[in-house]
Parts: sequence; C-alpha cells; structure tokens
Amino acid sequence: MKPNVYITRKLPESIVKKIEEVCRVRMWEEEGQPVPREVLLREAEQADGLFCLLTEEIDQEVLNAAKKLKIIANMAVGYNNIDIEEATKKGIIVTNTPDVLTETTADLTFALLMATARRILESNTYLKEGKWKTWSPMQLTGQDIYGAKLGIIGMGRIGKALIERAKGFNMDVSYYNRSRKLDVEKEFDITFLDKESLLKESDFVCILVPYSPEVHHFIGEKELQLMKDSAILINTARGGIVDEEALFHALKNKEIWGAGLDVFEEEPVSLENQLLYLPNVTALPHIGSASEATRLEMANLAADNLIQVLAGEKAITPVNG
Ligand code: NAP
Repeated sequence: MKPNVYITRKLPESIVKKIEEVCRVRMWEEEGQPVPREVLLREAEQADGLFCLLTEEIDQEVLNAAKKLKIIANMAVGYNNIDIEEATKKGIIVTNTPDVLTETTADLTFALLMATARRILESNTYLKEGKWKTWSPMQLTGQDIYGAKLGIIGMGRIGKALIERAKGFNMDVSYYNRSRKLDVEKEFDITFLDKESLLKESDFVCILVPYSPEVHHFIGEKELQLMKDSAILINTARGGIVDEEALFHALKNKEIWGAGLDVFEEEPVSLENQLLYLPNVTALPHIGSASEATRLEMANLAADNLIQVLAGEKAITPVNG
C-alpha cells in the first residue's frame, strides 16, 4: 500500500504528480493561506510523510498527533519552525532544502543592501508622488557601497555567496561566526572579527545565522549602540535574531543610518509594526529565495527527500538522525 503524505500548501502540479506516483497525497488546496491548525492536527494523524513550509509550527502537539510520521520535509533551509529534538526522539527524519537557494538568497541580500543604502524604494515613491521638482546637491543622498566595509554574521553557505557579490564592489569583508572558517578567509582574503569589533567597524552588517534560542535578540540595544551612526543593518536570516523594539529606537534616534529587513519577529508582519513607517527602513515580505527556478528546486528537493525516506532510503538533506 502507498504511504500517506500530507502537503500543507498547494504546490505546482509537477511536484504533486511526482509525489503521487509513489504516495497517496492529500493537500491543503489554498495557495495564499496557510493550513488551519486544526486541519494540520487532523491530517497529521494519518500521515507517514509531511511536506511543510516555514509557516507551519511543527511542535510537540503536532508530533504527538502524528503517530505514523516518518519524515517531515520542510521546504526551506531554516527549520526553526520544527521541534527537532522532539522529532528526533520520536525517530522522525527532518529534512530541509540547503544549497538550491543559496545564490538566490545572496542575490536578494545584496539587492536589499543596495536598495537600503541608495534609498531606492524611497526615491521611487518620491518621484511617483510628484515630489521631484528639481535636482539638488544633497537630495536623496545615501551611503556608498563600493569600497565600504561589510561585516557578515554567520559565515555559512549564503554568507560565503554574499562575499562573492561584495568583492565585485571592492568591499572590505569581515565576518563573525561561532567557528572560524580558515578556508573561506584564505580563499576570499577576509578577516574574522569578534562580534563587538565587527559591529564597531562595519558600514554594513548582514545577518545570516540560522535562528535558534542562542541567537534570540543577538542584535539588541547594546549591539546597535556599538554600530556606526552611518551603518546599515541587513537581516535576511530570521526575525527574532534582531530585537525589533531596540532597532526601532536606534533608527528613530539615528543611532544607525538604516535597515533592510526581509524577515520579522512576527510574520506576516503586522501593519502596526512601527518599523514599517520609518523612512530609513526597507521592508520586504520574506522573499529571500523567491525566484521561480529556486522555489521549484526547493519544492523538488523537499519532494525527493520525502519520497526517498518513505521508500526506506536515506534522506538527501537531513537535519537530524
Ligand atoms: P548554513 O550554511 O548552515 O550557515 C549558517 C552559519 O551560521 C554557519 O556558518 C554556522 O556556523 C553559523 N552559526 C550557527 N549558529 C551560530 C551562532 N549561534 N553563532 C554564530 N554563528 C552561528 O546556513 P545558510 O544556508 O547559509 O542559511 C543561513 C540562514 O539564512 C538560514 O538558516 C535561514 O534562516 C536564512 N535564510 C533566509 C532566507 C530568506 O528567505 N530570507 C532564505 C534562505 C535562508 P558553524 O559552521 O560553526 O555551524
């Protein structure tokens, strides 16, 4: 008998077909809305495999309901939406989608850096609202990117891909990571700095560490005070790593110059979040990996992980076990 798979969001037909060849598939048919919690809990009961997104909180309650579950294939590289410890205890394999999204996310990180530094969105709105009456010396002036100092927090796959972009702009790159990456230092001629020195010296600070309780509010009031008043903070990793209240005050009081945010502590971000109304914030709706080709590759990789594990084979990209 084919194993049961539950897919928590409507996927492109080609991906569903591929899973259907070897599994009995049930799927939440909405694309623009996450599966309601009660539906997820009910569907999880019968599922041998779960294909989910970062919008689903796969916690102890879901794992307890999912008595038959063998694999959770998360369509993301980050997996802080899943209780990995509990899944491991229950013998459930969890997989993610590394590598296939690295370049696309590095592109977006650099695009956000550039857009924030050169006030691209603000300038676009300025023009369209009819405010462009003349050219003037200091109108819509931003920060230079070429030759500036970039500090990367989290030197993993995406951090490394970001260096390649930065080097094209002659940036002086340093990084902080919990472990030294001597091979990367040598390959790209970059410097390891402790967190405090990196924050003090950088013109741009890009956050690219995975979220874990260890890095909750890794950037807070104290860290923001260390940064230059001309510095820009870019977060394309996860909300929660930056203390948004502290960031709001630092930006409002001009303790730092700007911020580019693709991720928020609460997602979708509430329109009551005051960060959205600061002119020196460029805000995006978590689109780091959002190119057509990459999203398809991520879905394919998640599907392949699911199919392989349910066929008794090894997962391609496991994060536990
Ligand atoms: P990765 O290759 O696993 O790299 C993560 C790096 O962070 C590793 O070098 C790791 O160090 C380091 N690190 C982990 N915990 C740390 C800590 N507590 N302190 C200091 N350094 C720490 O991950 P990746 O593929 O580059 O992805 C990074 C993150 O980007 C993902 O986890 C995800 O949250 C985020 N992301 C966001 C989007 C988006 O749409 N905005 C898209 C893709 C990814 P070690 O080598 O010592 O383990």
